[in-house]
Amino acid sequence: MPKPVLLTVDDDPEVLRAIERDLRSHYSDRYRVMRANSGSAALTTLRELKARNNPVALLLAYQRMPQMDGVGFLSEAMEMHPQAKRALLTAYADTNAAIDAINEARVHYYLMKPWDPPEEKLFPALDDLLHDWNSTFRPPYEGIRVLGTRWANRSYELRDFLARNQVPYQWIDVELAQSDPEVRALVNSLGPEAETLPLIIFPDGARLAEPQFPAIADKIGLRTHAQTNFYDLAIVGGGPAGLAAAVYGASEGLHTVMIEREAPGGQAGLSSRIENYLGFPSGLTGSDLARRAVAQAKRFGVEILSPQEAIGVRVDGPYRYLKLADGTEISCHALLLAMGVQWRTLDVPGIDRLQGAGVYYGGGTSEAMACRGETVYIIGGANSAGQAAMHFSKFAGKVVMLVRGESLAATMSHYLIEQIAKTPTIEVWPKTHVVEVHGDTRLTDISIERLDTREKRKLPASSLFIFIGAQPRTEWLGETICRDDRGFVLSGPDLLLNGRKPLSWTLDRDPGLLETSVPGIFVVGDVRHGSVKRVASGVGEGAVVVQFIHQYLAKVQ
Ligand SMILES: Cc1cc2nc3c(=O)[nH]c(=O)nc-3n(C[C@H](O)[C@H](O)[C@H](O)COP(=O)(O)OP(=O)(O)OC[C@H]3O[C@@H](n4cnc5c(N)ncnc54)[C@H](O)[C@@H]3O)c2cc1C
Repeated sequence: MPKPVLLTVDDDPEVLRAIERDLRSHYSDRYRVMRANSGSAALTTLRELKARNNPVALLLAYQRMPQMDGVGFLSEAMEMHPQAKRALLTAYADTNAAIDAINEARVHYYLMKPWDPPEEKLFPALDDLLHDWNSTFRPPYEGIRVLGTRWANRSYELRDFLARNQVPYQWIDVELAQSDPEVRALVNSLGPEAETLPLIIFPDGARLAEPQFPAIADKIGLRTHAQTNFYDLAIVGGGPAGLAAAVYGASEGLHTVMIEREAPGGQAGLSSRIENYLGFPSGLTGSDLARRAVAQAKRFGVEILSPQEAIGVRVDGPYRYLKLADGTEISCHALLLAMGVQWRTLDVPGIDRLQGAGVYYGGGTSEAMACRGETVYIIGGANSAGQAAMHFSKFAGKVVMLVRGESLAATMSHYLIEQIAKTPTIEVWPKTHVVEVHGDTRLTDISIERLDTREKRKLPASSLFIFIGAQPRTEWLGETICRDDRGFVLSGPDLLLNGRKPLSWTLDRDPGLLETSVPGIFVVGDVRHGSVKRVASGVGEGAVVVQFIHQYLAKVQ
């Protein structure tokens, strides 16, 4: 934590230097002594300190300053740093004003000029004030702070991005400025800057308004650009399948790069509790799994580019090239597709307008705390929806699962159905779907319909989480990499049509297991046609494919 600040203000340069010198001699081991030659200069300093979350312990201002007198300054300063102790330095003639200031402007103490010797006339009084200040002082949060409004999609995306990249941050909802003096003080100190939201404030005081992810990544040290332009193995997608391949590939000596569009962890990173992954009897959160896997991959020297997106692929002889969203290209001998699947969107009136403003796709774990005491609606009846219901039940007043089927039995694992049945705050409403969502700037109501009776109801709602299955996003692969009619990538024997190899296949042998229609380009995990959509199967495929990649590389190099 930076040292708390003692700020002294006087318009007389000589006096200012003298008091600064005395303060430093006595306090500089524990406090940072700062000075300003006017009330307005001091307020500017205080604004910056507020924005940086640097604590201010004491303000010592001379009463008789032109433009803004000491009492005026201390009253304004109090709005920004209400906890700071406020002392007024006065001339003999001002003692009445000083006494009034104690009563009216809540100044804590007044001292007389001259203060010589300071050991008698200055330090004892200030020591007392600082002792008082220390007894109630709580160290401020020192990490990244994000200012925004709960109901803005950009604020939601930013929080989600930081959470999924395991970057700790403090969320500050500016709409609480009316009721929370700390939030109000911060917003006021930022002035017009607080109007362009979301705003991210870094510990060094740097600020980014409406930030793009690459700019944040740069600032927090995430790598988005490749270090070299050639790799033995390039992996697209940092979910469980991609991460497993990265760990096995790099640990077996392959120079490996992994490109991830959002945050390592993939869908699994959205899971609030994975209970069926071998070796974790009481389960583990998706973000924990992702954090461990990333650490392991980095330990073996995997280069992780995130956030970075692969947007094109081309083949030239033995080389495979990936085009990245920043316009650069990297080349490799073997390419692994591990892009998983993305949430399907719900097509009902109002849904696009309210996405991120009460309507969320996927885990939304970063939202759970904000739903404290509220009723949360969840659409979907598969495991992901069940896990989310269990997670939200810890915070929400009530969780309602809207399920199209007659029950959860056909779509959800038995262990989750049992947990849900034992949780009194979760209700399952079968044969029900959402037909419309309402609200101008944030979700206010949802309209639901019973599928059997066609009975419709409009219910007040502030949070709707949607888990209605997923689909691959593979259009960027172009024509050469064969896919099924839903976009899943075909591999191995699935590529043979009546025993005939695809046109893009250039070798005599048939495509191997997990190999696509282009030799040297492999596929694993949820994006593969016919895959089992589980963390363990993705990890298993990621581990196994490295063996096939070795066999391929042995012939190509
Ligand atoms: C909420 C939830 C809970 C779940 N719970 C469980 C559970 O308890 N047990 C279980 O076994 N399974 C569970 N699953 C399923 C499991 O998470 C998936 O089967 C698994 O994550 C698939 O891994 P993957 O690596 O194939 O793909 P994904 O996890 O989907 O990862 C793919 C990654 O590729 C990235 N990507 C996509 N396109 C590009 C591109 N062009 N460029 C760069 N990057 C790209 C994506 O951003 C993503 O991070 C759950 C899924 C969800 C959503």
